[in-house]
Amino acid sequence: MFELLATDSASKARRGRLTTAHGTIQTPIFMPVGTQGTVKAVSPDELHQMEAQIILGNTYHLFVRPGMEVMRHFGGLHQFMGWNGPILTDSGGFQVFSLAKLRKITEEGVHFQNHLDGSPCFLGPRESMEIQATLGSDIAMVFDECPPYPCEYDYAARSLERTLRWAAQCKEVPTPGLKFGIVQGATFADLRRQSAEALTQIGFDGYAVGGVSVGEPEHEMMAAVESSEPFLPADKPRYAMGLGTPPQMVEMVARGVDMFDVVLPTRLARNGTAFTARGTLNLKNAPFIFDKGPIEEGCSCPACRQFTRGYLRHLVKSEEILGLRLISLHNLHFYLGLMNRVRAAIEAGTFAEFHKEFVSNYHPHAE
Ligand SMILES: [Zn+2]
Repeated sequence: MFELLATDSASKARRGRLTTAHGTIQTPIFMPVGTQGTVKAVSPDELHQMEAQIILGNTYHLFVRPGMEVMRHFGGLHQFMGWNGPILTDSGGFQVFSLAKLRKITEEGVHFQNHLDGSPCFLGPRESMEIQATLGSDIAMVFDECPPYPCEYDYAARSLERTLRWAAQCKEVPTPGLKFGIVQGATFADLRRQSAEALTQIGFDGYAVGGVSVGEPEHEMMAAVESSEPFLPADKPRYAMGLGTPPQMVEMVARGVDMFDVVLPTRLARNGTAFTARGTLNLKNAPFIFDKGPIEEGCSCPACRQFTRGYLRHLVKSEEILGLRLISLHNLHFYLGLMNRVRAAIEAGTFAEFHKEFVSNYHPHAE
C-alpha cells in the first residue's frame, strides 16, 4: 500500500506513494480540508484541476449534520459530495474534545452535547469507526483523546492509556479502507515513544502524530514529531495532523512526515490573506489599491492568471464571494504546488538546498 520511492541523504525527508481504493497519492502531500463535506468555496472539479490528490472529511461534523441516515441514503461521502478521489476522515475525537460540550468521558467513549442544537450524543471507538465506514473513508483514523496544551504529565499518561485501549478496539472494527493510528502523549517524549511503540505493536496502515498545533509553541510541535518519528515503522506513511504554515510543513518533511492537512489556506482566504513563496500578503492593505500585478508572479491558478491584486483587494473589502473563492483557489494551489516542489526536490536529491532556501525566503507577513 505504501512504497518509499526515494529518501533524502541529508534529512529524514521521504518521497513515497500510497495506494487507496480511490486512487494513488504521491507523498509528501497536502490534503485540503473539507470539514462539512466541501472544501470551502471550491468545487470537486476545481480540486481536480489544481491536482488535489486527496481531501479530508470531518467525522464529527458530518455525524452531527447531515447525519448518518442521510449518508447511508446517498451511499457515502464520495457520492454525496461528488468527489471521486481518495478521502481521509478524522475520527471525530478532536472536535468532540474541542468543540462540543463534554458530559462525561468513560471507558466506552465520550458523552457530549453537539455544538449545533445541544442534543445529547455519544462517540466511542466503535461508533467512530462505524461512522467512517458509512462515510466510505479511504483512510480512517482511530478514535483518540487529544489532550489540551498545556497538559499535566499524569493526565497525559492516563489519557494516553485510554487512547491506546481505544486504538486496539478501533483496529477490530471493519472499515472499507486503510486505518491509521494516532500518536499522542502531549509534550512528553517518553509518552510519545510509548504511544508510537504500542500503536506499532497493534499494527496500522499508517501513523499520525496528533495533539500538535493545539496552541503549543513551534519548538514543542517539532519536538512532538521528533520524539515520535524514530519509533514509527519506516515503511508506513506518517501524517502530522492539523499542520501547518508553509515553512512548518517543509520542516516536518525534513523530520520524516509524509502527509499534512490544515484549514489555513481557506480560513485565511476569508480575511483576504494570500500565501506566496515570500510569505503571506494581506490584500486588505492599502498598498494594493493600485497594484496591477497578480498575487504571485508565475502562479498558474485562476486568480493569478486573470485578476490583479487591486481587483482582489476590492472584492475582499466589498465582501464579495468571488474574492474569497479566488483567494481560496490561489492558496490551495500554493499549498499543493509547494508539495510538488518538495517531492521534486527529494527526487532530485536537492531537498536540503530547497529546505534552506524556502525557509529563509519565507516571512510570516511579507506585505
Ligand atoms: Zn495564484
